[in-house]
Amino acid sequence: MRAFTYERAGDVRAAAQAAADPEVKLIAGGTNLLDLMKLRIETPKRVVDIGGLPLKAIEATPDGGLRVGALAPHLGSNEEIRRRYPLISRAMLSAGTQQIRNKATVGGNLLQRTRCAYFYDTTKPCNKRSPGAGCAAIGGLNRMNAILGASDHCIAVHPSDLAVALTALEASVETVNAAGETRSIPMEDFHRLPGDTPHIETDLKRGELITAIVLPPPPAAPQVYRKVRDRASYAAGLASVAVAGGKIALGAVAHKPWRAAEAEGALANGASPAEAIARELEGASDKGRNAFKINLVSRLVPAALAQAGEQGRGA
Ligand code: SF4
Repeated sequence: MRAFTYERAGDVRAAAQAAADPEVKLIAGGTNLLDLMKLRIETPKRVVDIGGLPLKAIEATPDGGLRVGALAPHLGSNEEIRRRYPLISRAMLSAGTQQIRNKATVGGNLLQRTRCAYFYDTTKPCNKRSPGAGCAAIGGLNRMNAILGASDHCIAVHPSDLAVALTALEASVETVNAAGETRSIPMEDFHRLPGDTPHIETDLKRGELITAIVLPPPPAAPQVYRKVRDRASYAAGLASVAVAGGKIALGAVAHKPWRAAEAEGALANGASPAEAIARELEGASDKGRNAFKINLVSRLVPAALAQAGEQGRGA
């Protein structure tokens, strides 16, 4: 690990000012950043701790939604979240391990880096780690990698479960910069596809800090989150799906949470769930070892929609 200085941010504005320095990394839970620093994938000169900032509140919004502070703890077990946004609870409780869930933050969850094995193996080429170096996953061990929206430069997937739930709920990300200017970014636009710049993963600008997630009022229709992984814990997802009303988002299949707009449109026009997801997957492509994900998603989405239908009938 490269030597670094550590300090605590005094307030939100100071944290945003610190974040404008490319040699600075903000830390809160640190569940991903510390691993990256140990591997020298991240080598900040200064680490600024934002864990003590007043960003933990969960508050009602005037329109009947909820504003969740970027450092709000234990989101998965929060009573109001469980009652009104069970999709988020399910997603959070299926993420990582209990130890990580207890330490990680909402903002950090959205900013966590891919789990692509080659990203963490500094002996292998990786465009995300070293732009222009190449991509070892294409033609390599790519079982966990993307089937939608990938590029010739990167086929990594985003690992967040929370972001998939927030995409289906059409939440937005609230930010502030060093000048005190705030911005609201639709969740669907927050993460980027890799294109030829896979090292740029979000729409967050240098010097911007995530302050909250803003949830619209919950949909009247059932909410479902289903995730498939190799084992029940300590394992990254192979694929996941969030259903909230007529909205569908997929996880672990693309560089960002994948809004299944084609499937949503097909369902709205009377297609069966199987036909709708087949329409979505017309744009899918595999790199060999991850081909099974196409079949997996084609089964997972109809199962989630059936579960939502059953929940609706039982309500
Ligand atoms: Fe790196 Fe992306 Fe290729 Fe993985 S898929 S090795 S993260 S460039």
